[in-house]
Amino acid sequence: MELFHNQVTHEQGGFSIRMFHPSFGLHFLAQNISPPTTILDFPSEARFVEELRQGYDVVGISFIVPNFLRAKRMAELVRGHSPRSKIVLGGHGTPLPEVAGEIPHDEVCVGEGVRWLRGFFGEDPDRPIKHPILADSFGGRIMGVPVTDSAGHLTPGLGCPNACFFCLPSNFFGNKYVPYLETGQDMFDVCVAIEKALGFRKFYVMDENFLKYPERAYELADLMAKHGKAYRFSIFSSAENISKVGINFLLRLGVISVWLGVESKFEIFAKNRGVDFPSLVSELRSHGILVLTSAILFLDQHDHDSLWEDIRFTVGLEPDLVQFMQLGPAPNSPIFRKYSAEGRIMKDVPYQEWHGQGRIWFRHPHFTREESERLLAEAFRYEYDTLGPSLIRMYETLVRGYRTLDGSGDPIIARRRESLRRRASKFRPFLAAAKHHAHNEASRDLVARVTAEYNDVFGPMTLKQHAQSQVVRAFAAREARRVEAGRNVYQPRTIVTRYRM
Ligand code: SF4
Repeated sequence: MELFHNQVTHEQGGFSIRMFHPSFGLHFLAQNISPPTTILDFPSEARFVEELRQGYDVVGISFIVPNFLRAKRMAELVRGHSPRSKIVLGGHGTPLPEVAGEIPHDEVCVGEGVRWLRGFFGEDPDRPIKHPILADSFGGRIMGVPVTDSAGHLTPGLGCPNACFFCLPSNFFGNKYVPYLETGQDMFDVCVAIEKALGFRKFYVMDENFLKYPERAYELADLMAKHGKAYRFSIFSSAENISKVGINFLLRLGVISVWLGVESKFEIFAKNRGVDFPSLVSELRSHGILVLTSAILFLDQHDHDSLWEDIRFTVGLEPDLVQFMQLGPAPNSPIFRKYSAEGRIMKDVPYQEWHGQGRIWFRHPHFTREESERLLAEAFRYEYDTLGPSLIRMYETLVRGYRTLDGSGDPIIARRRESLRRRASKFRPFLAAAKHHAHNEASRDLVARVTAEYNDVFGPMTLKQHAQSQVVRAFAAREARRVEAGRNVYQPRTIVTRYRM
């Protein structure tokens, strides 16, 4: 439900970034088949049962490995309340061997689902894919303040051919890229449609390695320039591809944030060979591009010393955000097969604990499960204690970029700079309120440094911004009390979307 709070900022108290994401895959399926379809996002059990009473021909349940028991329960409810419905299972949980015997179902789809589901309904699997018109997130909160700031959702394609041994999405789609939007024109058309329908000019691109196919990105940038569109994109990309296209191109395309797999300094993946990460992260940030670096903990190469060496290396890059993820041998992945053959998978660990943010479920030569949980929390805590809140680092990147892009004669870059100024101005009341909640000296120094930078570059705050910062303070104080009391879970309401072809 929450990408950032779940695996990036959960140790950052009231500064944690909160937002929910819809079930994109389900919306893709519904948009691309002929039968009228209802999507339930985040249903309670009661709401799910209520919907079953409508008498559906088919009920699709998509689940990931930790939701195995939920999928089982839902399938049993379908059999009990709507016995004539066929049950189709899909998603990353489907390779689990117990699916066959424990979850009631009629069909299982493993891998890409749109073409599979069309085939199931007797439709042409290969007719063009229609991209759903969706917001990327909802229910956002910054320092407890509800924000309506969202982005359009784009999924240009699924999977990645790089086949890194730990990577579930790559493996799940056969170590191939499955394109939905093959050309820059396809992407541009969807951006225009989303802008028209929902008003977004900013997009979250859910593609494992978006710049792997740079021709599509080049064409998209050309079309934006031709039509005077200053769209902005958050992307995932491996370092090799950023180096290939260059930062100037990222600015022209309107890339505002990059999710970058650093992984480990001890296991050099082809995608990271020869990459100077300190320079790359610093250069991206100094051009106003937010950077999230992700690292894997509990690789075979890790002992207690080298694990901390990797943690310190990742934090030392000084990115805006960090994801630490435990190595997670998921069913069917190469690492799962290897560890299974070596007898290292702990089969008694329930599936609800098979995710990268709890305890490892394989035998590691140097770490117990309990240690893995403690060390993961310590890694996130070390990042927060050393670098301060991600939010403030992000505000720092905006002002750094604004400074760097000064004086560019290129009208596209000048527009990007103006966009940085607008965003910095919007977030300034949060920065002003942050000093009251900075949790240690490093955080207080960060807030003071960034505040001084804002004052220097943008001048003093306006009266309106002062007033807004008082409102932020009130919300932030309430959020801090929630966190302190351990009431840190937000539950989204059920969202019902009905698709009619
Ligand atoms: S480059 Fe990234 S998306 Fe591609 S296989 Fe490796 S980890 Fe997965």
